[in-house]
Amino acid sequence: MLDYWFRASLPVISSTLVALLIWAIFSVIPALLFMLAVLLFLMARHAWQLFKLSRWLARPDLQTIPAASGIWDEAFSLLYKMVKRHQQTKLDLAAELQHIELATSAMPDGVAILNAVNRIEWCNPLAEHHFGLNAQRDIMQDITYLVRQPVFIEYLHEANFSEPLVMTPARHDDLRLSIKIINYGDNKKLLISRDITQLERIETMRRDFVANVSHELRTPLTVVNGFVENLQDMDDLSHAQISRALFLMAEQTRRMDNLVADLLTLSRLENDHTPVREEVVDIPALLRTIYQDGLSLSADKHTIHLEIASEKNLSGNYDDLRSAFGNLLSNAIRYTPAGGEILVRWGERDGQPVFSVQDSGIGIAQHHIPRLTERFYRVDRSRSRETGGTGLGLAIVKHIALRHQAKLEILSSENKGSTFSIVFPPKRAAN
Ligand code: ADP
Repeated sequence: MLDYWFRASLPVISSTLVALLIWAIFSVIPALLFMLAVLLFLMARHAWQLFKLSRWLARPDLQTIPAASGIWDEAFSLLYKMVKRHQQTKLDLAAELQHIELATSAMPDGVAILNAVNRIEWCNPLAEHHFGLNAQRDIMQDITYLVRQPVFIEYLHEANFSEPLVMTPARHDDLRLSIKIINYGDNKKLLISRDITQLERIETMRRDFVANVSHELRTPLTVVNGFVENLQDMDDLSHAQISRALFLMAEQTRRMDNLVADLLTLSRLENDHTPVREEVVDIPALLRTIYQDGLSLSADKHTIHLEIASEKNLSGNYDDLRSAFGNLLSNAIRYTPAGGEILVRWGERDGQPVFSVQDSGIGIAQHHIPRLTERFYRVDRSRSRETGGTGLGLAIVKHIALRHQAKLEILSSENKGSTFSIVFPPKRAAN
């Protein structure tokens, strides 16, 4: 501080001393004139520095800070440091903001900040997508003008956010959103929207599955119950009648048994995410076994051919492959009227091993084909049941194919017949 005052007053003191010297040597007038000239010069210099300062303050920029000397030099250098610090803070804050924006953009949920009167202060890209917003255009707009569904407006106004709101946004009718609102700070609200479309689909599938299984089990159980009640109530049944009732009951229990076995297989395939236990499966030998099973299932009602056009084997799981191939052959037998022809073939297509079963059976209308591998999907329910079907066979085949990175192909034409093929990737071929 002292230093400052010393430097500020130095020109005045030194020129006063010079003026006193002039006065002593000459007279008072030249001394006063000299003093006046020095003061005018000092004032003009300060005025010029002030002008430079005010001009710079109008557009402060680190590159253009004016050069100065004397006491102004110190003031300008302090100013320079202050502006530099300020700019650094600004850069740090911008980087922090960008960091937060990047983090919220990467969030798997839509996020928007609403003020006390439900105006949008900020939203991330997913919230823009969910509600059809535009972060640039819609900032500070009332969200109830943009998301106009009554259920949403009511939820926002009721202000009871203990339970999330589940809704379909107006612009995406294939989306299901779960919306949560959290009050925070000074009457602000954090709106979080989560896409639960997939979750709901899985939940519906689970519910349908439980309903289907219950229904599938109830039918044979009702039949068996009916027979048991009859047997209990009627004492005078003949031996033949009893035998027939027992035969029909055995048929129904077999049906339940098949269903439970298929359910267990499916559950094992769906829950077992470990890679297939690899072994080289002797496919020609496996096909001969399946062919024999087919002959006894068909009981001479069909002509079944076995064509082994490739001597290649397959690396995969024996039990799974036997189950998939057996399922396709049993379907061909069950959906081909007596007298029809069935061809079981093992060959190659462009280096890919292919197992196929071709039949001359009832065929399938095109619109059913994409849904055939859904659990319990059947074209004709009564025919499937009559022939002992569970509606799970093709779902099992598809899972086994997937576990072997293979594709299930279905070609069919109504009343002409079908060809079901499992096309394996070339890397599965083994010698
Ligand atoms: P299911 O136990 O009912 O046979 P699947 O999953 O094996 O169940 O087959 C699903 C449905 O696909 C069957 O109900 C049947 O309508 C149809 N389907 C399967 N294979 C054939 C085939 N070879 N010919 C005609 N329809 C078939």
